[in-house]
Amino acid sequence: MNQPLVEPMRAFGTTIFAEMSALALTTASINLGQGFPDSDGPPEILDAAVEAIRSGFNQYPPGSGQPTLRHAIAGHQNRFYGVQYDADTEVLVTAGATEAIASALLALTGPGDEVVMFEPYYDSYAACVALSGAQRKVVTLRPTEAGWRYDPEQLERAFTGRTRVVLLNTPHNPTGKVFDRSELEQIAQLARRHDAVVVTDEVYEHLVFDGMHVPMSTLPGMRDRTITISSAGKTFSVTGWKIGWVCAAAPYLNAVRTVKQFLTYVNGGPFQPAVAFGLGLPDEVYAEVREGLRAQRDLLCGGLQRLGFDVITPQATYFATVRLDAGGLEFCQKLPRERRVVAIPSSVFYDSHEGDRLVRFAFCKRPDVLVEALGRLEGVGR
Ligand SMILES: *Cc1c(COP(=O)(O)O)cnc(C)c1O
Repeated sequence: MNQPLVEPMRAFGTTIFAEMSALALTTASINLGQGFPDSDGPPEILDAAVEAIRSGFNQYPPGSGQPTLRHAIAGHQNRFYGVQYDADTEVLVTAGATEAIASALLALTGPGDEVVMFEPYYDSYAACVALSGAQRKVVTLRPTEAGWRYDPEQLERAFTGRTRVVLLNTPHNPTGKVFDRSELEQIAQLARRHDAVVVTDEVYEHLVFDGMHVPMSTLPGMRDRTITISSAGKTFSVTGWKIGWVCAAAPYLNAVRTVKQFLTYVNGGPFQPAVAFGLGLPDEVYAEVREGLRAQRDLLCGGLQRLGFDVITPQATYFATVRLDAGGLEFCQKLPRERRVVAIPSSVFYDSHEGDRLVRFAFCKRPDVLVEALGRLEGVGR
């Protein structure tokens, strides 16, 4: 039989996450591969979803999302960042950040266009750029004494007359980097010079342990050139709910919505009012999720260091990276059978070979699970 898959997608077989999660099951391993928490989010938000199911939020919500949620998202952007969006024309609810990213790339780019993005990158980015027919131009983040950094000249060279979009993820998965203001200013300046749009994935906006999240939309002149994407999954530890959103100036929001309506149309009816309720909760609720994760980060990173690993401690997110002396892929293939722990070789997040010796561990797991995993890794460090 002929290869049924279209050419641009052939490089995207099964994801490493499916492969490693299957291996976790057959070897009874602790899965520190995929980034999902193993405990539920704030109980009052869970109760709000139950309540919504019982009170009739079970049919298609409006195409742009429940009005209460759109207002809550607009309120959230204003409350935390002082950026104002019109809830009716500048906010769109999506099936997770994943659909928002896909819709934005499909809406804005096509054959002949280029997307500037950083490696290592979240796996859906390359696939969505390929689906749109555009080409990716990748700039490398490297671990340095001063944290993960890119070469400003490499970034400058990545922009061409064909650049349509800069796809930025901050706080960044898998490095845990939080882009600082001067880096954002350089990106913004290049975007303006080349008349490109910045699509920012900010799903870890509330999971910053060191430093401060600066949304691209808050930089001078950038609100109307930025498509801001986020999601409830990471903020409230409800990754299975798949409620995400887009905030952008009306012409861009319209473009994204035009594509989005033919992907899922709508999703998550009863979860939408629950997320609206969650977004309005006091700062302490956000802080509780963050501080729980900070403790888990410190537990895993401290433990790995004691085992002799060269750990790059993240400023944010769910993930820590270790630097090995040998290949990360071989290490991760052996680990489940030999130690019953699953981790992800960071090479899967790179186009180049820069990540070949890096391995990503997720720490969004209960402390007892992390302690058990560390026990199983005894003697592996070096
Ligand atoms: C988890 C994650 C997403 C996906 O978010 P959903 O709301 O679950 O679709 C998007 N981007 C990054 C960087 C992530 O880590």
